[in-house]
Amino acid sequence: MTLGKYFQNNGEGSTKVNCVVCDSNRYTPLFHIPPRRIVTCSNCDHEYVNPIFSPKDIPECIFHSTDESSIGTQIDITYLAKIFHKYDIKERKLLDLGCGLGRLESGLIGLGWAPQSVYLMDNSERNVKVARKKYPLSTVICGDAQERIGFNDYFDCILMVEFLEHLSNPKEALKNALTALKNDGILIIRGLPNNDSLEAFIGRERWKMRQFIHHYHFFNHSTFSTFVKDFADVSVLEFGTFLQEGYHFYDVARIARNIGVVKESRGDEHTTYDDNVIMTAELTNLVLAKIESVDFEDYKHRDKLPKRQLTLQLSTEDIKNFFNTISLNQFLSPDFSVVMRKKQIK
Ligand SMILES: [Zn+2]
Repeated sequence: MTLGKYFQNNGEGSTKVNCVVCDSNRYTPLFHIPPRRIVTCSNCDHEYVNPIFSPKDIPECIFHSTDESSIGTQIDITYLAKIFHKYDIKERKLLDLGCGLGRLESGLIGLGWAPQSVYLMDNSERNVKVARKKYPLSTVICGDAQERIGFNDYFDCILMVEFLEHLSNPKEALKNALTALKNDGILIIRGLPNNDSLEAFIGRERWKMRQFIHHYHFFNHSTFSTFVKDFADVSVLEFGTFLQEGYHFYDVARIARNIGVVKESRGDEHTTYDDNVIMTAELTNLVLAKIESVDFEDYKHRDKLPKRQLTLQLSTEDIKNFFNTISLNQFLSPDFSVVMRKKQIK
């Protein structure tokens, strides 16, 4: 088990890094989630893991639940279809960075992309091997996008789905992606954990996104906007929230997991930090109790939250209803997407 190695290397194989957004080396510790330390930049408020560990000391990142048929993949494809249509991205050349086992490809083919036009890239040899076997007509590249992608002005569209937050240096990967993209090409980033979200606020160090050992960066609209300002050759077309994109299974179990009420959820069975719960009603009460215990005065975006509505709704028992009736804004979205266009530098 490589995780043991990761722990052993704590303090030895670790490297202190500057803020990837503003390059400052000043920071304030935010959370200690052994063996990682999450800090916030004293200059620009960006939240990131510091120090970082060598990638070889971290267990390989494998997603078991997100295959072609999973609801997560279906939602990703629905979202991509919408963006392709909106920005008139027709079938030409597309690169899926951090493709994993190639879970998006069959959906892309379903949207009309020829397998020959789809390029996949992942840094895991194991993933690449599987993807090559599944999609022999596509080009599957094994490599680290932070080092090089190997194409110049080649792609019409590049996808980064659940990708950037997994990199110690997302700036290098974005730079290389922009080199690989044609002028006027579109870059679609999806599933960036939103540290301005209600979930992040309530969950604190138990927020699933912070717990995940493969997550290095925790952006929000504001810090991400600052992050891309360094790139003269890109313009942000839009930010999107998960909820607006049709996240239908924003249910009790998901909320409970992301705000740290349960450790694990499987079907109707949930493992909490103290015990196990089975009934949905039981779980709902735990989630409501957690939300009621939160001091919303502490919430740095309290002025923007529809607080009155929140308080009124807490008296009801149905948390699903609560999330459905509240006005959905970026603070309720556990992650967000960004669509950008590469522009020609004069
Ligand atoms: Zn900074």
